[in-house]
Amino acid sequence: MSTLTNLELPAKVVICEVAPRDGFQAENEWIPTEDKIKIIKKLAGTGIQSMEITSFVHPKAIPQLRDAEEVVRQSQDLAGIAFRALVPNVKGAQRAIDVGIKKLKLMLSATDSHSISNANCLTEEAMNGFNPIFELAAKHGVKVGGSISVAFGCPYEGKVPLERLAHIVERYINLGIEEISLADSTGMANPRQVYETLGALKANFPTMTFSMHLHNTRGMALANAFAALEHGITHFDSSIAGLGGCPYAPGATGNIASEDLVHAFSEMGIETGINLEELIKTAKYVKQVIGHDGGSYMLQAGPCSQLHAKPKIQEKLG
Ligand code: ZN
Repeated sequence: MSTLTNLELPAKVVICEVAPRDGFQAENEWIPTEDKIKIIKKLAGTGIQSMEITSFVHPKAIPQLRDAEEVVRQSQDLAGIAFRALVPNVKGAQRAIDVGIKKLKLMLSATDSHSISNANCLTEEAMNGFNPIFELAAKHGVKVGGSISVAFGCPYEGKVPLERLAHIVERYINLGIEEISLADSTGMANPRQVYETLGALKANFPTMTFSMHLHNTRGMALANAFAALEHGITHFDSSIAGLGGCPYAPGATGNIASEDLVHAFSEMGIETGINLEELIKTAKYVKQVIGHDGGSYMLQAGPCSQLHAKPKIQEKLG
């Protein structure tokens, strides 16, 4: 047998739990604030170090997150967790800062069509509106991270040209951004595309920290995460029980499930700092509270380590 070749992968990654924002906002049925807090507290008990806790959007735009302030207030005492909140504009940034959020994540679409449907303006116009958010954040010593929605594929425009992504990254760099979340918001990315795109972006912007926000709409999220790992990406978003959705594919699988991602990483010997057993228990709890999951392999099959009783050889030989 020939010798095994070692694969160079990061030894450790950071996972940001996004169910309280991306997952909850996809639910039509109102989730009571106290249930949201119970879920957040259970998640905090799994060893998760980073969480996107809510989005400070207009309550009429996403009624499910109208309790953003209350959710942040009741979660603040959870030790050891870095919270971030999504903000669409300066008003949202002010609300987030007022309630004590220390890290903001900006919303931006890669394509004009998606930007118009999401933010009612072109991508460039949305970027121009970021300046006051930066001024406000700087005044309060609050960090700001960027994001690019539909970075790998847009439900209106299809594939996003690399030049377009590079232009957006450049604009973010000019604003002083050091971290950008690349979102496959509607699950259109494939592993080869992720690998090639990250290769180009990392070569052109070597100091930028890119993180991956993957949806499993078409079953490619784990493969895409692996393609990113091969490029040394160490920051990933995921959502407990796979909550989260895609308005363009009703009923489709949501974000990559946290328990599936942690399980896959753990099987590959990549440290996440998260207790998988606790995470699966939490996913079960979330499914029970919300009434469904968003496509979770762990909830269906359990982890590889859960071995079954061996067949009785003696009886068979009998
Ligand atoms: Zn998402």
